Amino acid sequence: MEDKIRKVVIVGGGTAGWMSAAMLKRMLGTEIDIELVESDAIGIIGVGEATIPPIQLFNSVLGLDEAEFLRETKSSIKLAIKFENWGVEGESYYHTFGSPGRSQAFCHFHHFWTRAQQAGHKSNLWDYDLNYLCAEAGKFAKLQVNDPVWELQYAYHFDASLYGQYLRRYSEKLGVKRTEGLIEDANVDAESGYVTSVVLKGGAEVSGDFFIDCSGARGLLINQKLQTGYEDWSQWLHCDRAMAVPSERFDKTVPYTRSIAHSAGWQWQIPLQHRNGNGLVYSSHHYSDDDAAKILMPNLESEAIAEPKVFPFRVGRTKKQWNRNVVAVGLSSGFLEPLESTSIYLIQSAIVRLITLFPNAGVTDELTDEYNRQSQYEYELIRDFIILHYYLNERDDSDFWRDARNMNVPERITEKIDLFRASGTLTKDNLDIFLESSWLQVMLGQGVMPQDYHPLADTLSEEQLLDKLAKTRETKMQPMSQMPSHDEFLQMFGKAS
Ligand SMILES: Cc1cc2nc3c(=O)[nH]c(=O)nc-3n(C[C@H](O)[C@H](O)[C@H](O)COP(=O)(O)OP(=O)(O)OC[C@H]3O[C@@H](n4cnc5c(N)ncnc54)[C@H](O)[C@@H]3O)c2cc1C
Repeated sequence: MEDKIRKVVIVGGGTAGWMSAAMLKRMLGTEIDIELVESDAIGIIGVGEATIPPIQLFNSVLGLDEAEFLRETKSSIKLAIKFENWGVEGESYYHTFGSPGRSQAFCHFHHFWTRAQQAGHKSNLWDYDLNYLCAEAGKFAKLQVNDPVWELQYAYHFDASLYGQYLRRYSEKLGVKRTEGLIEDANVDAESGYVTSVVLKGGAEVSGDFFIDCSGARGLLINQKLQTGYEDWSQWLHCDRAMAVPSERFDKTVPYTRSIAHSAGWQWQIPLQHRNGNGLVYSSHHYSDDDAAKILMPNLESEAIAEPKVFPFRVGRTKKQWNRNVVAVGLSSGFLEPLESTSIYLIQSAIVRLITLFPNAGVTDELTDEYNRQSQYEYELIRDFIILHYYLNERDDSDFWRDARNMNVPERITEKIDLFRASGTLTKDNLDIFLESSWLQVMLGQGVMPQDYHPLADTLSEEQLLDKLAKTRETKMQPMSQMPSHDEFLQMFGKAS
């Protein structure tokens, strides 16, 4: 077939580039040749340490050994994000990867809990969530369970540079060709507008049938060459800079990310096996870089081991993430702040989507349009979940937070909040990676209390209701006594295989 794609060129070797190379070669390796071009002179962004559970599936499709992966990338386990000072200052809540209670077909567990609350039997909803119990106790084990009530959903904190190197070794072993070189330009076919090759410093050309732009925020092909255009979302997400700095590891490695709100932004703290990753995401309208350093550095809680680095960013997305024969993956496709650790997930999802829609007999408008439709929707869903955190803040210490609370947000968000407040009902949108339990935890954690509950919760007598709650808690607590600490787990499991 004349238009069959035989050669894919990946532009850039950061997390996006090597994840793309590894998965494409693994899946389509017999059909296509892959060449990845990157420049050591430019380097990679090198931050991006917290992930969400689907990363496990990505690694397992690649066939990576989990113990080896943990060792190679200095990973720790992530069960949750702890949000501190996001509602009222001094208060905190967890967004865990688990869910409270036991799932039921028509009526989520929180309806029973809400009924008990209304009858005056106060308890903490998170006490019925194993992820929360383990996060708080600093415990972790890979539980082999038949009953989903004991499922412990987890992701990783890892060193993104080490993950990239690990996947590079993996990809090269499978036959991906890596070319070192600084790309200075790209050639475009005058008739079709398709990219035909990239031109390196010194004049050498790397040609291909299809290009994946993983060149980072600059978007060498998608943006600079094809001028695809960018949709800006800064009217809802007011932060536009981050400052990142690594620090000494703590004695105890907690199995969660910390997200600590400050007067005009928020700080992350991510524990790895060998160090902590830290940073501050902030609005340049409210903080200078000096102000940011004055907030971040005294709050590290361990010694900095490098100078802080500043990363300016623009929240939003590239308008067509697939344009002609170029697909943008990673930072070239857009940027959402790392509040819910979604960028690496968006890389994974883009790669899976691309492989699912991979053209056989050449690029078609139908495939391109479908890819762009799904990507846009997915980006918007994640954007809305991030906006939710800002919109529901209850802080009164700066215009930054007051403005966020008073802004006009996409209707989808207010509809979900109103529905939950009125009836406790949660809905899920197709393609939304954040399930009902995620929306539940952030809404409850930031002060939205349901005024009603599902009628099924009334089918129990008060005594039965309290018994159900007590038994659920007991069941959730059961595995805890045999679990090792998170650090013990990392030591034991890291040595396995
Ligand atoms: C402050 C901050 C914190 C973050 N935290 C998280 C997090 O906790 N979790 C998460 O999931 N994500 C996070 N991210 C996002 C994450 O860092 C990125 O999604 C991820 O690293 C992917 O980057 P990339 O590969 O697209 O780009 P890059 O790492 O920038 O790689 C670009 C590649 O292109 C190459 N290149 C560029 N120009 C040229 C050229 N002219 N010639 C040749 N090669 C070229 C470079 O050499 C490099 O190899 C964070 C981002 C920031 C800014």
